[in-house]
Amino acid sequence: MSSTFDQLADVVLAGRPATAEDALTVLRADDAELMSVVAAAGRLRRAHFGNTVKVNYLVNLKSGLCPENCNYCSQALGSKAPVLKYSWLSEDEALRQAGAGLKGGASRVCVVASGRGPSHRDVDKVTAMVGALKAEHPDVEVCACLGLLSDGQADKLKAAGVDAYNHNINTAESHHDSIVQTHTYADRVDTVDKARTAGLSPCSGLIAGLGETDEQLVEALFALRDLESDSIPVNFLMPFDGTPFADTWELSPTRCVKILAMARFVCPDREIRIAGGREMHLRSLQSVALQVANSIFLGDYLTSEGQEAEADLAMIRDSGFVVLGSDEEVAQRPVDPAIRRRGAGTDVLPNA
Ligand code: SF4
Repeated sequence: MSSTFDQLADVVLAGRPATAEDALTVLRADDAELMSVVAAAGRLRRAHFGNTVKVNYLVNLKSGLCPENCNYCSQALGSKAPVLKYSWLSEDEALRQAGAGLKGGASRVCVVASGRGPSHRDVDKVTAMVGALKAEHPDVEVCACLGLLSDGQADKLKAAGVDAYNHNINTAESHHDSIVQTHTYADRVDTVDKARTAGLSPCSGLIAGLGETDEQLVEALFALRDLESDSIPVNFLMPFDGTPFADTWELSPTRCVKILAMARFVCPDREIRIAGGREMHLRSLQSVALQVANSIFLGDYLTSEGQEAEADLAMIRDSGFVVLGSDEEVAQRPVDPAIRRRGAGTDVLPNA
């Protein structure tokens, strides 16, 4: 007997978009139905992306010291989070960092700078950097994330070979003003529109766990569908000490999987990327989440450390997926059994 979620997958595969009611049904599925949700959303994932996982790599060109007050952000005005703070990386250093990610299997490099938006000089700096990166790695896809764009800047980035532009809407319009006061939801949408109009692939996503309601999560996803976001990074709030969201823990691993599955149902053919907070919130369900999402960041995030890049790649292989663009099919040799030298029969404390 097929599940409700299977029937929904049939309908979506036949070309009828999921409704807000469908999305809420997925989001509110009982944990006992989790695997039915995953199996159904997984059919959409495989229909559009097969067994591939896109691997992205972040290079934080400029960290901290931001004048904006996004309450969730460790780099924001007023944040006391002790994150790395530095001004622009040199071009050589940016290329070195990007090269490491590409060597690790990434096909897209995301160059990011904190701040409200770039000056024209900043855009010149980034376009020169991207030119040099593409000269060294002609196949790399580059996504820039520099904040709110002013007129003409998206065209300049496009002309320099930038492929995509990231600017997250982060949350529903109806929730936006309670998480940031220094710019508006309309400002954010305007930048996504500018990027798309210039021919850059729009990358825009959300952060779950900001005190939004289920309906607001659905609202945000439908907004992303309407914005024609090609890639949708789904972040799970990392509640940094020293920010207004410190100690805010609203998510469970199963909830995170359902959020990703809902995103897959609403935007079946879009890149659904498991973004910040993956390890912290999905925990042992990371590989389950890969059954519905088709993209991750390799290694570290902008201001926090992720799991070891090798563990990311092993997870992809162990789950039966392949890194998009890689011809590696052979599973890596597992590690040798570790002989037990603790617990019963020894004087060493047991592993419990
Ligand atoms: S999200 Fe971006 S604009 Fe907002 S505070 Fe952080 S770095 Fe600044």
